[in-house]
Amino acid sequence: MQKVILNNGVEMPLLGFGVWQVPDANECEQAVYDALMAGYRLIDTAAAYENEEAVGRAIKRSGVPRNEIFVTTKLWIQDAGYESTKKAFSKSLERLQLDYLDLYLIHQPFGDVYGSWRAMEELYREGKIRAIGVSNFQMDRLVDLVCHNEIVPAVNQIETHPFYQQAENAQVMKDYNVQMESWGPLAQGKNNIFENEILLSLAEKHNKSVAQVILRWLTQKGVVAIPKSVHKERIIENINIFDFELSQEDIDMIATLDTKKSLFPSKNDPEVVKQFANWKFNI
Ligand code: NDP
Repeated sequence: MQKVILNNGVEMPLLGFGVWQVPDANECEQAVYDALMAGYRLIDTAAAYENEEAVGRAIKRSGVPRNEIFVTTKLWIQDAGYESTKKAFSKSLERLQLDYLDLYLIHQPFGDVYGSWRAMEELYREGKIRAIGVSNFQMDRLVDLVCHNEIVPAVNQIETHPFYQQAENAQVMKDYNVQMESWGPLAQGKNNIFENEILLSLAEKHNKSVAQVILRWLTQKGVVAIPKSVHKERIIENINIFDFELSQEDIDMIATLDTKKSLFPSKNDPEVVKQFANWKFNI
């Protein structure tokens, strides 16, 4: 598996496996197990996905040595703040049956993220987390966090797919040495992405699937991608992307699909921010 090197020297696999919207514990455990058997070495979960236990069980069952697996989990808004973050981190580790984490992300840019960040900096310095980062931080929030803290986030995990390519933001993150990670790399199948004519033509040209073309496009740009699937054949398909390369012409064709707009509710909308503030989990 190809890797990227984060701003603190830690290596992170370029392609991983995400488990949002896999609430069924058995299904999640099986999917993560299948992913590890298929060769994935990056697993992306979150306290708010309510499936950390299942992820932990799959890791144990797989028999893959702990130090070969890069595990990411995320801190939800209801646990924002210094003390709450420390507690939430311990609970996540316990649910995952792990004694350290590879990457801990602030899931959303809401609540007391500065308190959380101070707690995460301490946990990082104590060796309990190998890298700390953020998710869903727009560039103004990211740069503010960078400017007022000691540790620069290693990663910003944001919505990125052919319909929302985030090219300008990618440059900002590059300037600050923050690794870009794509969530929703397959746009969750929205906008008929798997039937898109341009993507289908590239899939045909390379004798690959549309999903493989998208994942190759992201990883070829150095963007970490974490596609989700609960189907073994798709899990295998999605990792089988390192035996072909897109040309500049292919990349230019994909660039024409960029709408520069998110497919999800805007986090700048006060109503949406309020909804996030009220979004509580049993964690
Ligand atoms: P994805 O873009 O990964 O799309 C997943 C969807 O695509 C599922 O419906 C899946 O169906 C389908 N799919 C997967 N592979 C294929 C394939 N080869 N062919 C056809 N369909 C396919 O969406 P996600 O939102 O799940 O994003 C990926 C991960 O990113 C999440 O699981 C999570 O870990 C992370 N994430 C983080 C967020 C954040 O706020 N930080 C927000 C959203 C996601 P099926 O399962 O039935 O195969």
